Amino acid sequence: MNKLLLLIAAAFLFASCGSSSPQEPIRLQGKAQGTYYTIVYYDSLSRNFQPQVDSMLQAFDQVASLWVDSSEIQRLNRNETSVVSPTMRDLLEKSFAMNAYTDGAFNVFVGPLVAAWGFSFKEREELTEQRIAELLRYSHGHYDISQNAAGQIEFTKEYPAMQVDFNAIAQGYVVDQIAAWLRKQGIGSYLVDVGGEVIAKGLKPDGTHWSVGVERPADDKDDAPEIQAVIALDNMSVVTSGNYRKYYEKDGVRYSHTIDPATGRPVEHSLLSVSVIDPESWRADALATAFMVMGLERSLQFIESHPQNPAVFFIYDQDGEYATYATPEFQELIIE
Ligand code: AMP
Ligand code: MG
Repeated sequence: MNKLLLLIAAAFLFASCGSSSPQEPIRLQGKAQGTYYTIVYYDSLSRNFQPQVDSMLQAFDQVASLWVDSSEIQRLNRNETSVVSPTMRDLLEKSFAMNAYTDGAFNVFVGPLVAAWGFSFKEREELTEQRIAELLRYSHGHYDISQNAAGQIEFTKEYPAMQVDFNAIAQGYVVDQIAAWLRKQGIGSYLVDVGGEVIAKGLKPDGTHWSVGVERPADDKDDAPEIQAVIALDNMSVVTSGNYRKYYEKDGVRYSHTIDPATGRPVEHSLLSVSVIDPESWRADALATAFMVMGLERSLQFIESHPQNPAVFFIYDQDGEYATYATPEFQELIIE
C-alpha cells in the first residue's frame, strides 16, 4: 500500500547501512506489501539481517498480499482453496475479533466494495443502489473456520463472492512479526516501519528513545509530507490511517478509500487522519482504520466506553482549518 503517513524523525535518517561499529545503526530498506519498508537497529555483532527480513516479507506476501496473484488470500478469494495456513488463520481470527470489538466498523469483507469503488486494481464501477446493496451482502455474509475430517483448518463462507481484503491490518501484522524475530536474535533496540506502520523498542546508544513523526494531512495527495507531532516510542507501535493520500475526486467530491461497512460507501466526514498507539501493531492498524470509519464523535464515544483507553490522535477539519485532538495517553508521548 502506498501510504506515506508517518515519517521517521531525523534522528536516524542519517543512519548508515551495514555499519561496523555497534554504536552505529544498521539500516535495511526494500519493498513489500505494495509499499516500502525501513528497519533500523543496533547490534553489538553488527549482523546484517537483510536476507532474512526479505524472505520473511516475501513469505508474508505469499500469504496476505493482494499484489501477489498466487498468494493465499488471492486463491481464497478466487475460491481455489478453502484450506488455510496458520498465518492466514491467525489473520482471519484477529480480523474477526476486531470486527466484533469495533461494532462492525472494521470489516475485512469490504473487499468487493473496495474494488467496486475503484480502490484496488480496477477502475471504479458505475454503482447503483442495487449493486451497493448486493456488495454489502458480501460484507456481512456468514463464515466459519473449523477443522475438517483430514485435520486441516478450513475457512468457509456463505457466498463465493465474499472477498477478504487485509490492507487495513496486514502491514501492522507483519511489523509485529519482524519485531518478534529481531527480539529472538537478541536485538534490544530497533525500529520497524512498513509503509508507515511503525514499531520501536529500546533506547538508542545515546540513551534517547526512537522517535516518530506523525504527518500533517496534505491538501493534495502529491504534496510533500510535513510533521504535525513527534512522539517517543518504546515497545509500542504507532499506525496512522488517513484519507488524504488515498482518494479520488469526482465532480468535486473526494472519495476516501475507507469504506463504511454499514453503508457500503466511502466514509464522508471531517476526520482527516487517526493515529493509534498500541503495543501490537496489527491492533493499532485495525483500530486506526475503524476510527476512520466511525468519525471523530463516535470514535471519542468508543474510546470513553472502552476501559483500556487507547492512545489516539485525531486530525480533523474544522471549518476549513486543521484541528487536532490527542487522548491524554497519546499526549503523554508527544515530545515535539
Ligand atoms: P488503512 O490504510 O490501514 O486504513 O487501510 C485502508 C484499506 O483497508 C483500504 O484501502 C481498503 O483496502 C481496506 N478497507 C477499507 N475500508 C475498510 C474497513 N471498513 N475495514 C477493513 N478494511 C477496510
Ligand atoms: Mg489499518
